[in-house]
Amino acid sequence: MRIAEIHLYQMDLPVSDKNYRMSAGGAYASFDSTIVEIVSDTGISGWGETCPVGPVYQPEHALGARAALAQMSAGLIGSDVTGPRAVRRSLDQLLNGHNYAKAAIDIAIHDLIGKAYGMRVCDLLGGARTEYVNSYYALPVDEPNKVAKLAAEKIAEGYQRLQIKVGGRPVEADIETIRKVWEATGCTRLAVDANRALTTRDVLRIEQGCADIPFVLEQPCNTMEEIAAIRAQVRRPIYLDENTENLSIVLRAISLGIADGFGLKVTRLGGLADFASVRDVCESRSMPHTCDDSWGGDIIAAACVHMAATVQPRLLEGVWLAQPSMDGHYDSTNPVRVVNGHIQVPTGPGLGVVPDQGVFGKPVASFA
Ligand SMILES: [Mg+2]
Repeated sequence: MRIAEIHLYQMDLPVSDKNYRMSAGGAYASFDSTIVEIVSDTGISGWGETCPVGPVYQPEHALGARAALAQMSAGLIGSDVTGPRAVRRSLDQLLNGHNYAKAAIDIAIHDLIGKAYGMRVCDLLGGARTEYVNSYYALPVDEPNKVAKLAAEKIAEGYQRLQIKVGGRPVEADIETIRKVWEATGCTRLAVDANRALTTRDVLRIEQGCADIPFVLEQPCNTMEEIAAIRAQVRRPIYLDENTENLSIVLRAISLGIADGFGLKVTRLGGLADFASVRDVCESRSMPHTCDDSWGGDIIAAACVHMAATVQPRLLEGVWLAQPSMDGHYDSTNPVRVVNGHIQVPTGPGLGVVPDQGVFGKPVASFA
């Protein structure tokens, strides 16, 4: 089986609350997603996606994704689809770096191989441990009482884990928010996520102001060095998210002893094959982690859920999907959805998501 055609599509994914806000970058009304269709010489289409969450969250950006995919696509035509790892090695011969763009091809190749052999992507990745995975809800940076009210609603809806976004404002407001969410929910699976935004001073202020509340602190500062500097003064688990760009960095964080778990993103790590390597390292050291991406539609959502289904349940911190915050689905028959805080693993071959005919419009670039 060889790669006969590659098509690139672009979609603006509308944010439904029109107010999606993180510690940096302001509010967004939509995010620019790139979709990859790889067609085999046997007529099977595999789908991949990559969707940076705005231009300032991470080094990756939407126009860069399409430029990198265009750079690699011509060189892939005619390649044998022997397996995802072999394709990944070919990509590294065509372009240095740009993991988030390579991830879209990797996801499409998994989908294509799964469809060709009648297997689900979770089975290609080692086998599903469950047919439903837990989701967690990310509470936005907002007024403390509003966040606490939303937190209570989400627990009532069925979510078992909540993530509280902090940073980008006076730390007193963050401390008040954490306290109010704790008082409103009593949820013992809380993560406080600064998305790199806190100074070491403010991390220690939160640590002192919330000493009685059980939560994990996710990516409090920008660099691993800053986190290492305060590690001994923080008496709670610390997770890394934005710093975990590849397996080598995950290994370094584990060996330095600065992380107790990870927020992991499929496209940042370069796709499902590379994520599987990180998953196995985490399992060997009993490190809990999430299976997420920064944003994206049903294709990304399915990729995250298939990966999560293969993780040892005691180590899975859940799957965050953009879906509850955005409008529309690619597959109107089998959309990937969070229902009562849980997500069903898609049942069809490959990713189990078949985009509706014409949903992406005309390709922005095609290679054959
Ligand atoms: Mg995070």
